[in-house]
Amino acid sequence: MAAPEPMRSDGITRRTLCVGGASIAALIAMGSLRYVGHNPLPRPPGGQDESHLVSACIRCERCYEVCPRQVIVPAHIEDGLLGMRTPTFNFDVNYCDFCSEENGGVPLCVLNCPTEALVLPEGATPENTIMGKAVIDQYQCLAFRETGCRYCFDACPYEAIEMRDGRPYIIADKCNGCGACESVCVSLKAGSIAAGATERAVVVKPVEE
Ligand code: SF4
Ligand code: SF4
Ligand code: SF4
Repeated sequence: MAAPEPMRSDGITRRTLCVGGASIAALIAMGSLRYVGHNPLPRPPGGQDESHLVSACIRCERCYEVCPRQVIVPAHIEDGLLGMRTPTFNFDVNYCDFCSEENGGVPLCVLNCPTEALVLPEGATPENTIMGKAVIDQYQCLAFRETGCRYCFDACPYEAIEMRDGRPYIIADKCNGCGACESVCVSLKAGSIAAGATERAVVVKPVEE
């Protein structure tokens, strides 16, 4: 039986580093990260520079593992080949609160990233770290069917949703893409009344989209 691969003190195996290094070398060999087929994605704190994230991330999955809310997931091939397995979000059941409950507001994903692929600039706050922007699909939103639904409004920690005539509207300047609204939206959980619905009525989209 093969001997187990030696683990570095920071928990990363040599193979992981080699795979990551090879990926980065491939990216450099391609000459540019502005490649065909790469789609920007909502990113965890510190991942807002797409080119830096894609080139520095070694796909070690540490950020997924340490996230206490388990909202970080790997990007898939349909998100773009070079960004595959870099960290993005799944807000199905939770949202990013900057680890305010577990680590006093210091993001554990950033602290544990071994390559500084996730790195926050000096003075970064939850308010000025724009991970994405929430967008409401009025055809799927139950409040636009006069149901009185306001789950997203109640969930937003940043007062980035206002209710007008019983309907929610995103205040884009205040939204940081935390995903709290998406995580509680009932448009699919309770059965959307919009035919052909495939996602929730409020979804966090990438900033550049
Ligand atoms: S800041 Fe905390 S809650 Fe947000 S993605 Fe990073 S680890 Fe998860
Ligand atoms: S911890 Fe850093 S290097 Fe590892 S997968 Fe996450 S972003 Fe990439
Ligand atoms: S609108 Fe949604 S994504 Fe934007 S800050 Fe509020 S809860 Fe977070």
